[in-house]
Amino acid sequence: MRVQIINAHMLEPATGERRQDSWIEIDGGKIVDSGVGTPPAPSGDVRVIDARGGTVMPGLIDAHVHILVTSTDASEVASWAPSYATIRALRSAGDMLRRGFTTVRDVGGADYGMARALDEGLLPGPRLVFGGKALSQTGGHGDFRSRSDDSLPCCQLKPDFGRIADGVDAVRRAARDEFRKGAHHLKLVVSGGVASPTDEISAVQYTADELRAAVVEAENHNRYVTAHAYHPRAVNQALRAGVRCIEHGNLIDDESIRLLVANDAFLVPTIVTYEAMYEVGRASGLSSSSLGKLDEVRSAALDALGRAHLAGVNIAYGSDLLGALQVRQLDEFTIRARVQENIDVIRSATSTAARLLNMEGQVGTLSPGAFADLLILDGDPERDIGILTNPRRYLRHVTIRGEVADVAG
Ligand code: ZN
Ligand code: ZN
Repeated sequence: MRVQIINAHMLEPATGERRQDSWIEIDGGKIVDSGVGTPPAPSGDVRVIDARGGTVMPGLIDAHVHILVTSTDASEVASWAPSYATIRALRSAGDMLRRGFTTVRDVGGADYGMARALDEGLLPGPRLVFGGKALSQTGGHGDFRSRSDDSLPCCQLKPDFGRIADGVDAVRRAARDEFRKGAHHLKLVVSGGVASPTDEISAVQYTADELRAAVVEAENHNRYVTAHAYHPRAVNQALRAGVRCIEHGNLIDDESIRLLVANDAFLVPTIVTYEAMYEVGRASGLSSSSLGKLDEVRSAALDALGRAHLAGVNIAYGSDLLGALQVRQLDEFTIRARVQENIDVIRSATSTAARLLNMEGQVGTLSPGAFADLLILDGDPERDIGILTNPRRYLRHVTIRGEVADVAG
């Protein structure tokens, strides 16, 4: 279907360029042309949308989601059939689209089948850029066995998040297997985490050799490695091994920031998840040991973002919200706007995230040739970030795959 958007205030995040009183033409799911003033007369079957002076900008990108983790109640989740877990996940993907996210990067869980279903438009939802299962060492952040559990490490979890791989050969094999299954990137967990039951936040997971094996496999497949890490010991070891992106990074030090800049690497803070878990406390499904670990990382998060931003680190938007907390996916904008200009936060969820995903020119931009993944907003999010965080009130339309998505409700 062809679509013409008129009376638009276009916002191109990468340059900050704005064009008032402009028009955009969409055909075959892509932006084909745009201009200022009177648009070309629509011919044939064209749907015309009057933006009424509202902002038209690229759809948002969330670079850190786990769409399969729709509940944090482990015993409840254990009773689910994979089909049920998948359908719940795809429903939550639809909710993400209704919030204005037209691309999401899954960093643990989602697979080719889900990406294909969304791509074929079987259900409403964003583009899904997935990494398959995250690799974890035994006892690492992807090992959810309790201390009393003597069973052998399994390679599957419900909900699917990670797989255990110890040693260079096993890491290599697991990496190859995820790429065989179509992973766009490889996720490694390289330091302790909040939800895992037996590790410490400051624990370093994986050795330099194992990290290097993963990075070489990724490079051989024209892909990259992203790593969950909090503590500078883990962060810096990963960056030195060639890991291209650090997830969270709450406790990063000056050397981490130096390495991020020198390697042109990316940082994906996920501050809202700590705030959300902290506010709901035990009701989030976290154990008391996890709540203790939450304290360690929550207080440092905003300061780390501020320091990285000042140093010029590539920063992408991430939410990492699990289960029922996913409804707060847009609140990361509000939090980041405390230490960054609105346009910089908008870039993190558009142009910078597009670079991280190796999708520059395809998403996160209004340039001709890009996917027509657009938001039409009543208001200017560069002036007031609240225009983005209240979609019920301000998000008039989302276009994706050449269609105008139904964002009501
Ligand atoms: Zn993580
Ligand atoms: Zn995560």
